[in-house]
Amino acid sequence: MIIDAEAPGSSGVLTTQVCIIGAGPAGISLALRLAGSGLAVVLVAGGALEAEPRHQALYAGEVADPALHSPTTEYRHRQFGGSSATWGGRAMPFDPIDFEPRSWIEGAEWPIGFDDIAPHYAAAAELAEIGDPEFSAARAIEGGMRPMIDGFGGPHFSQDSIERFSCPTRFGPRYRRRIERSPNITALLNGHATEILTSDGKATGVVVRTLTGQEIRIAAEVTVIAAGGLETPRLLLASRGGEGIGNAHDQVGRNYLCHIAGTMGSVRFDPARTRIWHGYERSWDGVYCRRRLSLRPEIQRENRIGNIVMRLHHPRLPDPAHGRGILSAIYLAKPFISYEYSKRLHGSERPGLSGYLRHAGNVLREPFATAGFLMNWVWRRTLAERKFPSLVVEPRNGVYSLDIHAEQVPNPDSRITLAGERDALGMPRLRVDWRHRPLDFRTVSVALDLLRRDLADQHLGELTYREEEIPDAMLREGAYGGHHIGTARMSVSPRDGVVDGDGRVHGMDNLYIAGSAVFPTSSQANPTLTIIAFALRLADHLGSRLQPAAASIRTEDAA
Ligand SMILES: Cc1cc2nc3c(=O)[nH]c(=O)nc-3n(C[C@H](O)[C@H](O)[C@H](O)COP(=O)(O)OP(=O)(O)OC[C@H]3O[C@@H](n4cnc5c(N)ncnc54)[C@H](O)[C@@H]3O)c2cc1C
Repeated sequence: MIIDAEAPGSSGVLTTQVCIIGAGPAGISLALRLAGSGLAVVLVAGGALEAEPRHQALYAGEVADPALHSPTTEYRHRQFGGSSATWGGRAMPFDPIDFEPRSWIEGAEWPIGFDDIAPHYAAAAELAEIGDPEFSAARAIEGGMRPMIDGFGGPHFSQDSIERFSCPTRFGPRYRRRIERSPNITALLNGHATEILTSDGKATGVVVRTLTGQEIRIAAEVTVIAAGGLETPRLLLASRGGEGIGNAHDQVGRNYLCHIAGTMGSVRFDPARTRIWHGYERSWDGVYCRRRLSLRPEIQRENRIGNIVMRLHHPRLPDPAHGRGILSAIYLAKPFISYEYSKRLHGSERPGLSGYLRHAGNVLREPFATAGFLMNWVWRRTLAERKFPSLVVEPRNGVYSLDIHAEQVPNPDSRITLAGERDALGMPRLRVDWRHRPLDFRTVSVALDLLRRDLADQHLGELTYREEEIPDAMLREGAYGGHHIGTARMSVSPRDGVVDGDGRVHGMDNLYIAGSAVFPTSSQANPTLTIIAFALRLADHLGSRLQPAAASIRTEDAA
């Protein structure tokens, strides 16, 4: 069932067994897993079925350094389906090494191991619609995938690891009917949790307000906050009159991680010795798959650095020296591309009038190739149900750049706090102060050096870059947008984090967190597949903890 919290007369008390705050991939996956359980579930969406500016405005907050972090209204979507409304669908699991204690990375400690989450990836892959949960290029496609760099078998890097791409599945429209038809799930639209009420180590209620003045109290046996990596700490900190929940050791909102990412370097391959394929292949069920270069775990250990992957990439768009009409056309189309995608694609530099003219010249020199590409792009990227994931363009001169996606290591000073100002519902706004550490750049530096050696030793190509360019290249667009990790991290002890290995807030009997806020480390992987896997694991835990009640959801008038 789907109900509207703004409907006249909706104020009152709602009694249920499980209250899930947030209807993004985490909240929806959790609810869907509980659909057949008989447990009464209320899913508070924090927005409408579609994006509405008045709801999105609740995400507005302060950013300590706007050069390092996007505004808090960008890269998040306050609606049913959450940020899956715009995600790119790139999916892969975390690696076993991510869960290992790594003495050289302060704070890299999980209370659980890879084996605890691995069994949930198959069902997560199904919800994310990425086909078989197979991430080896040798096995993902019958006969193996084409090599990215023919003949490459570097001792430091592997090219066997792949990423798979979701449609990308928009969790709102995709799963709305399933939620609507589930007799034990009630999705509450247009309602926003503003406070968790507690007493004696228990969550006793959730205060839900609407922008039209209604107030609903939800009393649940178990409450799960699945409001995204930035809103989850905000809600915890704003509760109990600002005293906070789970914050006895000042851990809520700390260790805010994204990824260290950027495009740099030039790789010139020797055409006599190797062939390059940096495009996609489709699995038997049509899923786009692509290889990456991943740094082997034993090399990470040996060099005492973080996890990292790299992809061969077209030259950077803003510089017209690439000479490709296609790349210039996309650069010139920048005003028509959303902030979130245009930021990484185009960077923030301006090429000036002469630069724009050179871009136009590139387009005019390759009119047919550019027009053909753009038509194909519209067809395969915009109209197709399963969309072509990203721009793949062969560089004219055979020189590729490297697209780097690396683990960011925990840093307690990188944090989310509450700002002085309040939103339209009276909740303190959030303040983001994202910071990085020297090890973040050392990971990139060591990995680039090792890749350079792998390519040179095998006489396949030459990688050139300027070492001193690394921090600027990795910070050019600031913190990687959309990946909000670590702000309510898992830990054995409440001194080191906010939730235990089950996702339960330390010191609270019935309050849990779902989403990347609970990840103590960020891996090299994009987070959403693992967010879903953790939500499914939590659903199983709740299923074993709770008994379906005879009465489902009850409502009472406020009076
Ligand atoms: C442009 C972009 C591209 C991305 N590409 C990728 C990608 O390729 N691969 C990948 O793995 N990830 C990607 N991501 C990240 C991905 O979108 C997130 O990891 C994912 O959406 C997180 O899911 P979530 O359910 O934890 O949070 P969200 O999706 O943020 O959902 C949070 C939910 O909580 C609700 N909510 C918030 N506050 C409240 C409140 N107070 N009360 C009630 N409800 C509330 C919101 O309305 C929403 O329904 C991308 C993100 C962006 C923005």
